[in-house]
Amino acid sequence: GRTPEPARTRTTCGYCGVGCSLDVLTRDGGVVAVLPDHDGPVNRGHACVKGRFAHGFLRSPERLTHPLLRRDGRLEPVSWREALEHVARGLRAAVAEGGPDAVAAISSARATNEENYLLQKFMRVVIGTNNVDNCSRLCHAPSAAGLTATFGLSGGTDCFDDVERADCLLLVGANPAEAHPVVGARLLQRVLRGARLVVADPRAVGLARYADVHLRPRPGTNVALFHGLAHVLLAEGLIDEEFLRRRATGLPELTTLLAGYSPDRTAAITGVPADDVVAAARLFGQAEKPAIIYGLGVTEHLHGTDGVRTLANLAILRGAVGTGRGFGVNPLRGQNNVQGASDMGALPDLLPGYGKVTDPAAQARAERVWGTPVPRRPGMRIPEMFAAARAGELRALWVIGEDVCATDPDSAHVAQALETCPLVVCNELFLSETARRADVVLPVASWLEKEGTFVNFDRRFQRVRAALDPPGAAITEFAIIHALAAVLDADLGCSTPAEALAECGRLAPAFAGLSHERLDREGAVAWPCPDPDRPGEASLYRERFATPDGLAQLSAAPYLPPGEQPDDRYPLVLVTGRRWAHYNSGGMTRRTDNLLLDSVDRLDIHPADAARYGLRDGDPVAVESRHGQARLIVRTSDAMAPGQVFCAFHFPASGVNTLTSDRADTVTSCPEYKVTAVHLKAL
Ligand code: SF4
Repeated sequence: GRTPEPARTRTTCGYCGVGCSLDVLTRDGGVVAVLPDHDGPVNRGHACVKGRFAHGFLRSPERLTHPLLRRDGRLEPVSWREALEHVARGLRAAVAEGGPDAVAAISSARATNEENYLLQKFMRVVIGTNNVDNCSRLCHAPSAAGLTATFGLSGGTDCFDDVERADCLLLVGANPAEAHPVVGARLLQRVLRGARLVVADPRAVGLARYADVHLRPRPGTNVALFHGLAHVLLAEGLIDEEFLRRRATGLPELTTLLAGYSPDRTAAITGVPADDVVAAARLFGQAEKPAIIYGLGVTEHLHGTDGVRTLANLAILRGAVGTGRGFGVNPLRGQNNVQGASDMGALPDLLPGYGKVTDPAAQARAERVWGTPVPRRPGMRIPEMFAAARAGELRALWVIGEDVCATDPDSAHVAQALETCPLVVCNELFLSETARRADVVLPVASWLEKEGTFVNFDRRFQRVRAALDPPGAAITEFAIIHALAAVLDADLGCSTPAEALAECGRLAPAFAGLSHERLDREGAVAWPCPDPDRPGEASLYRERFATPDGLAQLSAAPYLPPGEQPDDRYPLVLVTGRRWAHYNSGGMTRRTDNLLLDSVDRLDIHPADAARYGLRDGDPVAVESRHGQARLIVRTSDAMAPGQVFCAFHFPASGVNTLTSDRADTVTSCPEYKVTAVHLKAL
């Protein structure tokens, strides 16, 4: 007979934060093809290699299909009942011995909004602690803090579609050609149609070859570079005085500070030639509609929040935010739902919708909706959880969808924390580095096997739909959290993802106008969206900024040096980041049998440095830092600046995150991934 037509399910990509809308074609319980949605609000018929082809992991023989429980040092398959009762006993014991704050949970961009919402509710209502955090701590926490301090809300200021109108793009610390390929392609289209492009990145990232000016600051010197650009804007009168008078505050303090950042002084700190600083500032300053797009090269620093704030200064000085006359300031989120995980309140200090846990009004709102008191003391951030575990104060840790032993910095200490903690529970697709060290491993559904929503990098909610059933006994995070609550004799309410989003909307006004039914009808809706009958606010702050005084807050934070410094013993600076074919710790992409995908992690190095170490392409090399050692394969590249090396973190076996330090952004504890002093040894 004829082969039946495949079923078609429209969903949102579970890899990067672009949020491509995809049609997943399935037959006989397997994926036949993944096609980009031609009407996709962000992708408009495009998708990258990850979204289209990295689905082989779904039926990998390594996929976890049963709960596992550690007995006599070995993880053994058990029933759900046995696994959950073990977890429940462990949680009760942890609370009995150390109180609710002896328990913590780490949530994730891989979980839907509804799963993040349910997890934070579980921690606050069932356990009674604010010890819940998510992976944004490791990437864009400085964006949330910096953008909130500057403009009032934690997301990017505008809709990505506005980039079509921008006449100058300032792309900072991001490599969208590899990490956000669909965005990279749209930026390139805009440049080819006439927009000017300034790239600020130590590496010659993909788009740099199309740049009018490529600024290559030494890693860790962003704040000085942004001040240098602002200095030129002020000195040459390339500012919007009327906007600054009406809608911003802090100009006198900033003006005083900027006197110390002449192009020459900026050049001395950053290594960027003074003429390039001037040229870039003029391009940005003379543009009608300048746009700032940035990535983790701005945030993952000792002073990452200062980086976000001083970058935002440039948009404010130009009056290019909150007016429709410019594209504002927009972070490229690395992971699919890292914005949503924070929006839903999987944060130790913030409730869903960003009400502070210490704010009586936000507490009262949560208590009204949940019908129970909420904990008032801010909880631990992820690095504090690991420190507390090592100190014997944290007695139970639940890790959802994050391979913290592979992706968190100074991973030897993370592993130690997990080994010390009496109960570690890990929800996973595979036996990851973290799952290997857990006491209980719970098998979960992937992004292609569950219902809910994600929020992409420009604050758009989109539906996630199940194209397949999960294998074996694997179930969704949503079902696991409910099941564990039931074993603990608690009822979390909201029995479906749709009900969870509706409940979140009752608690958080910014999401009150959203529902699954509306998203099914409209496709994508941006938050804030307080009203079901009105569109979401794709571009923010047209009337006023959301700060207490309604004004954009210029930052006069001075440049401070990075925590890590090269010296004679560790003369090179390592920057870590992402590559085109892989996603995070590679759990899914490494298990996709596709010859297009890179199969080893490489160390990119300038040819002159390679020659100095006697290294050639393909040579194995040991990379040593003050914190650990990794083994990589050399790839010489002119894209690297001399004195700097680059690698990704997609292959946990190479041990890249044993190299990185536990130094972190002074405001948000986001790790200083972008600056690690290293030396090399040929193997
Ligand atoms: Fe789109 Fe990002 Fe998915 Fe690629 S990984 S298809 S760019 S959402």
